[in-house]
Amino acid sequence: MQAEIITIGDEILIGQILDTNSKWIAEELNKIGVSVYQITSIQDDRQHILKAVEEAQFNADIVIITGGLGPTKDDITKLTLAEYFKDTLVLNEEMVAHIEQLFAKINYPFTEVNRNQALVPSTCIPLKNEFGTAPGMWFGQYNKVVVSLPGVPVEMKGLMTQSVLPKLQATFKLPFILHKTIITYGMGESMLAAKIEDWENNLPTFIKLAYLPSFGTVRLRLSAKGATNEMLEKAISREMEKLVKLIPEIIVGFEENETIEMVIGQLLTKKKQTLALAESCTGGNIAKMITSVAGASNYFVGGIVAYSKIVKIMELNVSEKTIADNTVVSAQTAEAMAKGIQQKYHTDYVIATTGNAGPTADETDKTVGTVFIAIATPTTIFSEEFFFGKPREKVIARASNKALELLRKEILKN
Ligand code: ATP
Ligand code: MG
Repeated sequence: MQAEIITIGDEILIGQILDTNSKWIAEELNKIGVSVYQITSIQDDRQHILKAVEEAQFNADIVIITGGLGPTKDDITKLTLAEYFKDTLVLNEEMVAHIEQLFAKINYPFTEVNRNQALVPSTCIPLKNEFGTAPGMWFGQYNKVVVSLPGVPVEMKGLMTQSVLPKLQATFKLPFILHKTIITYGMGESMLAAKIEDWENNLPTFIKLAYLPSFGTVRLRLSAKGATNEMLEKAISREMEKLVKLIPEIIVGFEENETIEMVIGQLLTKKKQTLALAESCTGGNIAKMITSVAGASNYFVGGIVAYSKIVKIMELNVSEKTIADNTVVSAQTAEAMAKGIQQKYHTDYVIATTGNAGPTADETDKTVGTVFIAIATPTTIFSEEFFFGKPREKVIARASNKALELLRKEILKN
């Protein structure tokens, strides 16, 4: 079963907002076994809408449209769809009652403009919008479906979850789709691909593999499509087992939304151990990642953004000589920072970072992208040198991920 998504709105095309609706809808459709054939973003323009809907209906069985359903003049989707289906707008009393109720709840005066929101093409099934006044509209003809939804993300999501997805499942005979994800750290996409090549080539045809790389981490997502859920569960588990055996040392997690900072949080909580940070080139990014996990106060005591030489010396007790002899971007400075913060806060683990994030090199002799990461554990301190390239955001993101990867390995050892 194929679908097409059309998002309507000038705001998207001038770059003012990002079309996150399509991403969300595509993900949800895939989950119920509907593939998305095309995603299109178009202007609030009658001709353009007519052309896009016609084309989409030609390509796909299901067309999902979002945007342009508001009460203002620039919102012309409803009128244009009525024209497309050679239909006229009629007042739907159930929707009038629903909208009146919404206004009564928030104590707002109900106006004629609001009543117009309950005008819908006579041949559509209006879908009640729990979070707003514009109803969704379901047009179904000859086993082809066109659905129009408001652009506001919460309203669109509410309508999709409550009405559209269940109605699609009831209308079409859809296959089952199952996804399983593995999160890996520390191996580049191409090396990883080479390592699992034979396994990948031998995957059954109904299982597809996707590589989702991001700054030193790669998610491997397996998607299986078939007639029964049990069969898919079995087949995908079998393949996962084989994959885990091929790359056990780089696997960090198995949940779609799991992150390394969550995994570290679970480990430290279980072991009742603590963490502190001394960040130079990562500028607090590791602290931000660590504290994005609920419950981080159980193990994270805090950190210092020791960006300048003077803060490294004053707050972390790094000696002037260490810096003078080795420069700030060095293994010695990174380890001295780690030692300093561990002595200050008495934590089991410490991460320290120092490097050149760029774009221009500082007074050290190290090239842009060079980062030293030091880790202190209850028994040892060590550091490693990395080269993360450019631009700046990438250096910071990769350094942060690498630091957490090193930390996780140490926690597992102790
Ligand atoms: P309204 O009643 O608010 O006018 P509407 O159905 O007319 O709803 P739009 O006017 O197209 O929807 O968009 C309303 C708001 O919803 C936009 O300002 C934007 O913030 C958000 N929005 C619209 N389309 C998208 C999209 N494709 N992705 C993410 N957000 C969107
Ligand atoms: Mg609008």
